Amino acid sequence: MPLVIFDLDDTLVDRAGLVRRWATEWAADHALGADEVAWLVDADCGGYTPREAFFTAVRERLGLDEPVPTLIEACRERMVALVEPDPGALRALVLLRRAGWRIAIVTNGDTALQRAKIRRSGLDAVVDAIAVSGELGVGKPDPRIFEVAARRCGERLDGTGWMVGDSPQWDVVGGRGVGLRTIWLRHGRSWDDGLPAPDAAVDSLDEAVRILTGGESAGAPPSDRSGRMPP
Ligand SMILES: [Mg+2]
Repeated sequence: MPLVIFDLDDTLVDRAGLVRRWATEWAADHALGADEVAWLVDADCGGYTPREAFFTAVRERLGLDEPVPTLIEACRERMVALVEPDPGALRALVLLRRAGWRIAIVTNGDTALQRAKIRRSGLDAVVDAIAVSGELGVGKPDPRIFEVAARRCGERLDGTGWMVGDSPQWDVVGGRGVGLRTIWLRHGRSWDDGLPAPDAAVDSLDEAVRILTGGESAGAPPSDRSGRMPP
């Protein structure tokens, strides 16, 4: 069966929105203003700042007494509580499954947090397999995490599968490294010409589904932009 692997954060779950909601709530709880919300969002760096480093910086900046592990755990709890299911993502995955695709999620991050986000957003019900770097000890772009995901779907990485994600290095370069064709969610960014290009760049999951299914849409209005990258 055809195989497609999806990234989680800022692909199937709006992590940027989630961090904004958490930062807004956290700042309000600590009687901080909008400037501090912006600082928290910047310091998070799209999730690429390790949690230990992030909360060490937060603790120093605000002179907090709580130990870093306590702050990390409290953040994890609130982030999970603040996850909002994305009806568009669920529709896209249901449509792909109906079209016969095997679907995996491959995500880098803390196992408990990533799996809780997947459950809370309802994604666990519409995918065949999940692979989280925290539980495997290897993350994207390491080939092993993609291989585990394919195996958990009962499939092999035989050059016919696809990877969909927003990270140039982890999703596109990583996916290409194991023979996956790749769709990059650009989120308003330009591709770095120093990297090998994805097979397609899109603005939405709906566009990605159209490419995978050869035209079938997940419900959004049709677009005359193919999203395919120039040769
Ligand atoms: Mg991502």
